[in-house]
Amino acid sequence: MNNELTVAEKQKIIAQTPAAADLAAGRETVWVNPKRRPFAEAKERLSLSQADIDDAEACLRRFAPFIRRRFPETEALGGIIESPLTPIPRMRGFLNERYGAGLTGRLLLKQDSHLAVSGSVKARGGIYEVLRHTETLARAGGLLQDDYTVFDTPASRRFFSRYAIQVGSTGNLGLSIGIISAALGYRVPIHMSADARAWKKDLLRARGAQVIEYASDYSRAVQEGRRLSQQDPDSYFVDDENSETLFLGYATAAGRLKRQLGETPVDAAHPLIVYLPCGVGGAPGGITFGLRHAFGDSVYCVFCEPVQAPCMLLGMATGLHNAVCVQDIGLTGRTAADGLAVGRPSGFVGRTVEELAAGIVTVQDDKLFDWMRGLWETEGIFIEPSACAAFQGAVQLRRMAAALGIRAEQLADATHIAWATGGSMVPDAEREAFLRTA
Ligand SMILES: *Cc1c(COP(=O)(O)O)cnc(C)c1O
Repeated sequence: MNNELTVAEKQKIIAQTPAAADLAAGRETVWVNPKRRPFAEAKERLSLSQADIDDAEACLRRFAPFIRRRFPETEALGGIIESPLTPIPRMRGFLNERYGAGLTGRLLLKQDSHLAVSGSVKARGGIYEVLRHTETLARAGGLLQDDYTVFDTPASRRFFSRYAIQVGSTGNLGLSIGIISAALGYRVPIHMSADARAWKKDLLRARGAQVIEYASDYSRAVQEGRRLSQQDPDSYFVDDENSETLFLGYATAAGRLKRQLGETPVDAAHPLIVYLPCGVGGAPGGITFGLRHAFGDSVYCVFCEPVQAPCMLLGMATGLHNAVCVQDIGLTGRTAADGLAVGRPSGFVGRTVEELAAGIVTVQDDKLFDWMRGLWETEGIFIEPSACAAFQGAVQLRRMAAALGIRAEQLADATHIAWATGGSMVPDAEREAFLRTA
């Protein structure tokens, strides 16, 4: 329906959206979602449920023996790809002193930057989608056994070499899909946008994926990948813009986080506030969907986007979702946060989180580098520029708290989580260059 709007109608809607002028001017913006609802009500309108998340979790568990064998770095967690949750009190001090964040309570870092296999948040979602599809093919092909280490045999790889898995990516989704798919024996054409870093393409080629490069942006890489995949009956396309499977894979993070939080109180008096870097929306959206199921109204999920690529904010604030893109308001979509360099949001995600997300903030690129250095110097942890966008949520929380209905006394003992979405696979030379970036 939205897709049938004329340019004039679309521009009219944009002009009537209060946040749009600041977005168009490239100014940092703080947007509180007026449609956020009590979870008991919001839940009624969702087409996916906790049962779907449980399903995803169960599939990942079935494959754990295979993952453990094929990726020995997952040995300690028995083949489950999960990341540490780490207190970063010195970084909290840094944000309070240099940026006036005024954060009270605890600040934790969810280190998906250090997820096994592909070093980013995409490991959970992307790998789940490939495994789910693999199970389906294996069942149809009579290959499925109780023992999933069967997938680590030459016969299995030969079986899957007939099939292709394709994806369009700014880099990290390609890495995640490419690495797991190549390990299973698939043919893997990965469609990379212009923003994708050279080392990611090199690494993928080294693992046996075929990298197809586009001079244009991410939406184009997705479009081409989807088109080429449709022409091949043995090809499966991981659709970052529309995939429920990917979304549910991301959502599995929530139940695991709940276990990791252990004794840390999360309830009406002790809110959990989570800051999530956002590109097309799948990762932050899936995690938000999972977190609202896990913590109900005690969790507040804030998405964080670059000032030049605030696609989800634009889509949600206008209600136009994927019918609008950042170029429609004169932005470039270009940012040093390559994982967030997305001009058009996922319509599926925008509609799904419409009543779940707390708000969205945007951030200038230069701050990402400052926070990257700050985290490195105060805590000795390196994360990539895209991941640093999470700290903008923490810095801006005080400007959002009242509108979100969070009172000062609740903030005194709140738990803040900056979701570090990527970084551990960044090569040393690239890391050094990032840390020197002014
Ligand atoms: C992909 C990515 C995100 C955002 O995920 P989306 O699903 O695109 O919204 C954030 N940070 C990093 C490092 C990423 O690779």
